[in-house]
Amino acid sequence: MNKIFDVIIVGGGPIGLACGVEAQKQGLDYLILEKGALTNSIFNYPVNMRFFSTSERLEMAGIPFMSVENKPTRTEALEYYRRIYSHFQLKVNLYEGVQTLKKIDGQFEITTTKTQYQTKKIVLATGFYDLPNLMNVPGEELPKVMHYYKEPWPFISQKVLVVGGANSAVDAALETWRKGAEVSMVLLDEEVDQNVKYWVRPDIMNRIKEGSIQAYTKSKIKEIREKEVVISTPDGDVTIANDWVLAMTGYKPNFALLDQLGVELSLDEKRQPCYDQANQESNVPGVYLAGVVCGGLNTREFFIENSIVHADSIMKDIRGKLN
Ligand SMILES: Cc1cc2nc3c(=O)[nH]c(=O)nc-3n(C[C@H](O)[C@H](O)[C@H](O)COP(=O)(O)OP(=O)(O)OC[C@H]3O[C@@H](n4cnc5c(N)ncnc54)[C@H](O)[C@@H]3O)c2cc1C
Repeated sequence: MNKIFDVIIVGGGPIGLACGVEAQKQGLDYLILEKGALTNSIFNYPVNMRFFSTSERLEMAGIPFMSVENKPTRTEALEYYRRIYSHFQLKVNLYEGVQTLKKIDGQFEITTTKTQYQTKKIVLATGFYDLPNLMNVPGEELPKVMHYYKEPWPFISQKVLVVGGANSAVDAALETWRKGAEVSMVLLDEEVDQNVKYWVRPDIMNRIKEGSIQAYTKSKIKEIREKEVVISTPDGDVTIANDWVLAMTGYKPNFALLDQLGVELSLDEKRQPCYDQANQESNVPGVYLAGVVCGGLNTREFFIENSIVHADSIMKDIRGKLN
């Protein structure tokens, strides 16, 4: 009942697990709390997703990441992280979401969906994949509108509108089109994003050019109805027949969780949390940030490759401070 952990890590994604490995290395009494399955975000990625990183760049703790091709699939990544979890016998409580976080007398009280914990330090490694950016248009609440795309099979012979021009949107458009959906895209810009995976971009550009996929560029969705969608284009409003809307409009971190602890956000459009890059400690002493949550709304700033190092600097800092 009165146990006080050295550190509790919120989030069992790749970076939360890396934090667990480093905490163990430093001899810290730690626990990882994960609201869903192990590496829940990756579990929720599109079934056929392939990473843009090569597998060796995703490796942690010197454990080789085997993949059949140089860039791993979602399934290979799920298996890799499962092996990390079992190899290091990481202490992870799955299906236990953190609801409230409070700082009391220099320590922290965490209330989860199951119980309460006391800890000296907290690491927030909560990612950004739980909260989609909404379009805020009439009809967005209809069941045909999806913010997460899994696989193409439900969309055979369906009229699909994909919203967005980044990797997720392009993958969804190409996959559903190849399984026989009639696909249109709504792009805010003149063409798909420059950052679309370099081996996929020519594919989507050519499908648009040949007219197989209709792209409404410099356009926005205006209204979604049961059987049609209204698109606001530079030439005026266009209404098209529609069965499904795949709104691949990106995601954002759970700022409410940061706010509970008093972690400040930058005032610019990035809303980047305040932290010291040397040790990842936020403006609230004892609260550390790890992984892609550090980028705020700039969800492209951090990815697994360049944030895995957070784990080492955080746990060394905590070890030093607890000594
Ligand atoms: C489609 C897609 C493809 C990508 N491809 C690549 C790539 O090729 N290479 C690369 O380096 N990066 C890639 N990224 C980025 C990277 O995979 C993810 O951002 C990565 O999962 C980040 O790891 P993380 O541990 O910081 O966050 P996440 O993996 O998002 O982990 C956060 C975890 O916290 C949990 N959580 C959230 N709130 C709570 C709570 N209140 N209580 C308990 N648990 C909570 C979530 O369930 C989740 O499991 C990709 C991202 C996407 C969306």
